[in-house]
Parts: sequence; C-alpha cells; structure tokens
Amino acid sequence: MVSFEVRTPRRAVLVDISAEVAAAVNESGVTDGVVLVYVPHTTAGVTINENADPSVRADLLLALERLVPLSLPFAHQEGNSDAHVKASLMGSSASVPLHGGRLQLGTWQGIYLAEFDGPRRRRVLVSVSAAG
Ligand code: ZN
Repeated sequence: MVSFEVRTPRRAVLVDISAEVAAAVNESGVTDGVVLVYVPHTTAGVTINENADPSVRADLLLALERLVPLSLPFAHQEGNSDAHVKASLMGSSASVPLHGGRLQLGTWQGIYLAEFDGPRRRRVLVSVSAAG
C-alpha cells in the first residue's frame, strides 16, 4: 500500500489526484489487477468524473451544495454536518481496473479527492491488488 498527502485549498473543492494515483501504482510494480483509492476521512471522499471541462467539477459542487445546504437543521454540533453528508454521498473509495500497467480510466475521466471541510491536509491510500 502507498499513501500520499493532499493539501486542499478551500472548504469545498475537487482535487485531481489521477497523476498521484498513477505514480503510486507504478511504485507498486503491479501491472494487472485492481487499484483501490481510499480516503480515511469523514468529511472528504473520492469520486471519478470528467477531467476535461473544469465546469463539470464546479457543477458537481453546486449540485451538492443545493442538495445538502448547511442551513438544514443538523444535530451534529461541529458545524460541518453538510460535509459529512456530502462525503458519504461521494463515498470514501473508488476502484479502478489496472491493465498493462495503466489505469483503465476513460479518456475524460479523472480521480478526485472530494473535499468538503477544507482547507486541510488529507491522506489518500492506494492499494494495488494483483490479478490472480
Ligand atoms: Zn463533524
């Protein structure tokens, strides 16, 4: 398993971590299998979506903001309940097939750390399982 750190610049942001994940996969030496990308946090998640037009990232954040506004009557007293809910909507991991040493992402796909309670330092774990 390999891990790396991401410093998120704002409260809510999608940070493209595709290159860091690919580097971690290279480091593993495995060429075929499954890559698990996991974030051990409760107010950040992982998602895979478009890496070409940055407005898609902005739209995702806008839609999540409308779905889960901070103005809801939340019970959790830390003031970041929206971030917990958004992190669960994204999920804390993503799996990507690995073939011939390359992540099998689509042409327009990128892997994102989804931050909802930044700015913070986040840890991303990458676990590569070789195909049997
Ligand atoms: Zn909290």
